[in-house]
Amino acid sequence: MGISEKIARLIRPEIRRSSAYVVPDSKGLIKLDAMENPYGWPGDIKAAWLEVLQDVELNRYPDPEPEALKRRLRETMSIPSEMQLLLGNGSDELIQTILIALATGGSRVLAPVPTFVMYEVIARNLGIEFVGVPLCSDFSLDVPAMCAALERTQTAVTFIACPNNPTGNRFADADIETVVRHTSGLVIIDEAYFAFTDSNFMRFATRYDNVLVIRTLSKVGLAGLRLGFLMGPAAWLHEFEKVRLPYNINSLTQASVEFVLQHRHFLQQQVAQLRLERNRLWSALNELPGVRAWPSETNFIMCQVPDVDADRVAESLRVSGVLVKSLTGASPVLRDCIRITVGTCEENDALLDALRATV
Ligand SMILES: *Cc1c(COP(=O)(O)O)cnc(C)c1O
Repeated sequence: MGISEKIARLIRPEIRRSSAYVVPDSKGLIKLDAMENPYGWPGDIKAAWLEVLQDVELNRYPDPEPEALKRRLRETMSIPSEMQLLLGNGSDELIQTILIALATGGSRVLAPVPTFVMYEVIARNLGIEFVGVPLCSDFSLDVPAMCAALERTQTAVTFIACPNNPTGNRFADADIETVVRHTSGLVIIDEAYFAFTDSNFMRFATRYDNVLVIRTLSKVGLAGLRLGFLMGPAAWLHEFEKVRLPYNINSLTQASVEFVLQHRHFLQQQVAQLRLERNRLWSALNELPGVRAWPSETNFIMCQVPDVDADRVAESLRVSGVLVKSLTGASPVLRDCIRITVGTCEENDALLDALRATV
């Protein structure tokens, strides 16, 4: 038997049909495609961080329960004392942990779409059916459709990214609350963009026993460290803890995050700067003829380019040295949309120049 027959026999059909997550080559380009913080660290902070790293013992396994790090996260994020914390190797891993624990035959995962793709990808990888409920045309939650889908399907968990990726808006509190009250399953509110909005759903997690909140440090400036955290009632986290792989947070990440949280002032300044840049970029984009920028409570802006093909716009920008994300393939309603991460002032100006020459 040849290798392809063996693969056909042994690999699940849904995995064979899917393709791996593609990350485009960004060498030499202004990188505005992945919601990263564009700023570096001040020299004195970097020097102090390198001192800390010298003492990390890489021959030892990481601390399996980094309590000091959790305490710092609690302080920094004002996490209510009645909520517990579970750390993940990025919030992607937490989504996977939750779905591994909840997967039983016939249970389904639900999310409004378009949204963050990993909910569907991870569900598929675990053999769980994903139900996507289309957002309204203004990208608000279609609450009646979500409630109908919750009634129709046996939904184990509903993911709500708020603010949402890739649309950039946040959903009305009352709409999320209606969904929470309507489901007999869990609701995970994904606050990956918490630093770029004034909304906050932690109070839902204290008020409703079926709500958990996920956050990540990726979008505020630590994407390379991979640290996400899940917050919610101890009883739920006690179950998810059993699924978490031991030592999932490596020693360099633990030491680095603890260090950065102690020196977080510079990161907070960078985030404040990005919020200002976002508003400036949004106005400038909307002034371009043939471009419509949607309001954003994140560190990216979704733009519609109705008269031109979004793939062609993204490709033309790439040729001009700027990498953005075309959303053409992501969903039929985003056929003519691109997603632009907010960069530094100079990067945003370069993007605007390149876009002016394109659309
Ligand atoms: C980027 C993003 C994540 C992934 O974050 P990591 O912690 O880097 O894995 C999760 N959810 C949403 C909505 C995102 O946009």
